[in-house]
Amino acid sequence: MDENTAVSRNFIELAIDKDLEEGVYDHVVTRFPPEPNGYLHIGHAKSVLLNYGLAEKYHGKFNLRFDDTNPTKEKTEYVESIIEDIRWLGADWEDRLYFASDYFEKMYECAVFLIKKGKAFVCDLSADEIREYRGTLTEPGKDSPYRDRSVEENLRLFEAMRAGAFEDGSHVLRAKIDMASPNINMRDPVIYRVARMTHHNTGDKWCIYPMYDFAHPIEDAIEGVTHSICTLEFEDHRPLYDWVVRECEFENPPRQIEFAKLYLTNVITGKRYIKQLVEKGIVDGWDDPRLVTIAALRRRGYTPESIKLFVELCGVAKANSSVDYALLEYCIREDLKLKCPRLMAVLNPVKLIIDNYPEGQTEYLPVENNLENPELGSREIPFSRELYIEADDFMEEPPKKYFRMFPGNEVRLMNAYLVTCTGVEKAEDGRILAVHAVYDPESRGGNAPDGRKVKGTIHFVNAATAAHAEVRLYENIVNEDGRFNEDGSLNLNPNSLVTIPDAVLEPSLADAKPYERFQFVRNGFFAVDPKDSEPGKPVFNRIVSLKSSFRLPAKA
Ligand code: ATP
Ligand code: MG
Repeated sequence: MDENTAVSRNFIELAIDKDLEEGVYDHVVTRFPPEPNGYLHIGHAKSVLLNYGLAEKYHGKFNLRFDDTNPTKEKTEYVESIIEDIRWLGADWEDRLYFASDYFEKMYECAVFLIKKGKAFVCDLSADEIREYRGTLTEPGKDSPYRDRSVEENLRLFEAMRAGAFEDGSHVLRAKIDMASPNINMRDPVIYRVARMTHHNTGDKWCIYPMYDFAHPIEDAIEGVTHSICTLEFEDHRPLYDWVVRECEFENPPRQIEFAKLYLTNVITGKRYIKQLVEKGIVDGWDDPRLVTIAALRRRGYTPESIKLFVELCGVAKANSSVDYALLEYCIREDLKLKCPRLMAVLNPVKLIIDNYPEGQTEYLPVENNLENPELGSREIPFSRELYIEADDFMEEPPKKYFRMFPGNEVRLMNAYLVTCTGVEKAEDGRILAVHAVYDPESRGGNAPDGRKVKGTIHFVNAATAAHAEVRLYENIVNEDGRFNEDGSLNLNPNSLVTIPDAVLEPSLADAKPYERFQFVRNGFFAVDPKDSEPGKPVFNRIVSLKSSFRLPAKA
């Protein structure tokens, strides 16, 4: 580890430091072990970046390993999406891409090894009986009547399990540990089951599959992982993890360290729920921008840098807690504010007619692309007699402190001229057809020659040259006041997606490419949707609005 980075260390780094100091390990290998049963979400991003970050910091290695030992829910589609997402996040596994299913033979050998040592036995109890025998938190369990089978009989039966001699669920292989252990995980846990399932990688080669608690430590050990970092719910499984690597007699066995899962307010993490939304068609696939899967965040316009910043600010904790979704929004604003050009787009347009501007004339006004970042250069925007402004930038009868357009008031059209509202034209039903104004030809650029004060500044788009596009605005997908209904179903926010079919934008935006990001002044950061846009017909997703009451907590 570099000396200059040794400032403040989280508890995992302290544990690794200690292991290196004491010579338990002389190097570091970490891994990210997703189960390919869904798309990755923001919680997984934390785990990816944590594991990859540790490998980098200690000049170690980082493995990507698919934990594909449960074929029923696993699919190649998920393998592919996970690879794409991790690559996009910037974690590099180089040539160390592994599949747990490649180790099935080795796991089988480990099981045989345990049987030979008298540490595992084939059990004929049914799943219900095993549960009954297991005891409870307050009562010890009872030994299975099959616990004392001879090594020879166990070997023969286990081989028969593999050969397909038994029905699904009729026989299991169990570790022989201690039915009286205060830790229920140690009460002769099942380590292999009979299950006829077609595996996405090994096909029908196997009809027995290892259980997670047995498979995972072996996968780590085979790969030479040193620090197997997982989430808190596995803390009680650690004694079993240690038992497996010890009894299988791996040299330099890995060590498990747990940290708290990342939970976010107002969103849905948890593949189980996301999958429901996808399968019921409530969202437009795993990458629907309202979700917090990596694919959804990417589609919505988030950057890998913003997610890295977010994960860093969250830190690594030993206790579960929820992080405010606003922190994620803060991170993307921080990342984009200097990177994106600021353009004008009118989401809810109403016509503004400048009656004293010469008909048929168009002029071009110079505008900086980003006032805080001169490197982004400048452009020229068209201006003429007919413009669009936001409908809510005009009020016929304004309340106090409304400084935007109303009859008699003078406002600044951003980067252009000062205009004074002269009236409004309405249809019979009261709908506004156009707002009228006169401009001060001496105020080009937006400042009065006599220095008179103008409070309101509004944005606009030139009507004749405007690009037209669909714009999508998002809110949380679940209701603020409770994610779940009483029956356990999700309490969905009906306004989570608002589609604006015809927003008007600066002309150059007609050619915006998928994933391109912009700030639309006053309206937020937007990105071009990669799925629904067509050449010349972009669809814009709002990544995040500009304002927030959110403040980064002061550093302790
Ligand atoms: P989910 O609960 O969303 O279904 P999972 O834990 O079942 O997720 P896995 O594919 O088994 O998903 O997880 C891969 C890795 O990601 C594991 O090491 C797991 O601990 C970690 N992980 C999963 N969810 C989170 C989270 N919310 N925060 C941090 N790490 C997580
Ligand atoms: Mg899981």
